[in-house]
Amino acid sequence: MRCPACSNMMIVVEHELIELDYCPDCAGVWFDAGELELLLETMQLEESILSLDSILTSPEARAVEKKRKCPICGRRMKKATVGHEPEVLIDACNRGDGLWFDAGEVERLITQIPSSEEADSQGRLITFLGEVFQARD
Ligand SMILES: [Zn+2]
Ligand SMILES: [Zn+2]
Repeated sequence: MRCPACSNMMIVVEHELIELDYCPDCAGVWFDAGELELLLETMQLEESILSLDSILTSPEARAVEKKRKCPICGRRMKKATVGHEPEVLIDACNRGDGLWFDAGEVERLITQIPSSEEADSQGRLITFLGEVFQARD
């Protein structure tokens, strides 16, 4: 699969049975819809900020960032924000193929201190993502 940001070949990173596509050149990461679902299920976060349904039904974010094309269907992805303080701008395939995080966006999400009643699950997700990215360094 090609990176939607720089077009280089991405590599598959597996962590705790969940596979992510990672671009070694620009350090972006693609979450395939199925893998994302599995991840959120594992973390008991189906209703989380990262749920694809809620991202796709939320209004498009106004952003100056260039639109990217989905690495699966090749269509333009939607800009969406997740998290808060600060919001992280990500790309989502309108057909629901998956989510794209540019370099640093996952880390920015990771550093957000969980503040909801889902704090435990949210914390586990953040730990999981932290481990994935630490494994890359
Ligand atoms: Zn790339
Ligand atoms: Zn797509």
